[in-house]
Amino acid sequence: MANGKIKLEVVTPVKRLVSAEVDEITGPGSWGEFGILPNHTPYLVQLDVGALSYRKSSGRYFVSVSGGYAEVGPHEVTILAESAELAEEIDVNRAKGARERALGRLSGKGADEPFNFDRAEASLKRAISRISVANRSGLE
Ligand code: ATP
Repeated sequence: MANGKIKLEVVTPVKRLVSAEVDEITGPGSWGEFGILPNHTPYLVQLDVGALSYRKSSGRYFVSVSGGYAEVGPHEVTILAESAELAEEIDVNRAKGARERALGRLSGKGADEPFNFDRAEASLKRAISRISVANRSGLE
């Protein structure tokens, strides 16, 4: 963009969470955290579960994302997340409940259900990301 900003869109299959002009973005890539400033080389990055953050003037904002892709262009970044929640809309008690259920499965409780390690681990990662992102938003 001529104003040196990045047009950021964060969307999931069911909603658009963010549409903003921002200064900088960091996110959880499947090969490690990535950072994007204006005029970045175009590329496509697969997302892990974790905290996406962006800076807008003096504010830094956090979104928990659970897989998907980031499409990076020199002046725009589109995050296509499998699911995503803004920090302020995360229900921490719900995430803590999900974390306890996942930990219970991983430690052998809930033996009445067929156990799927990958599913329990993915659920645990989503819950931990949501808990850590909740309320991390505001002025730097
Ligand atoms: P749960 O067991 O609590 O449903 P989950 O990890 O199985 O957690 P998902 O299937 O990843 O949940 O998400 C289902 C929908 O609920 C998505 O739209 C997601 O954004 C939303 N969601 C999940 N957990 C939370 C939370 N703690 N706070 C707010 N929204 C949430």
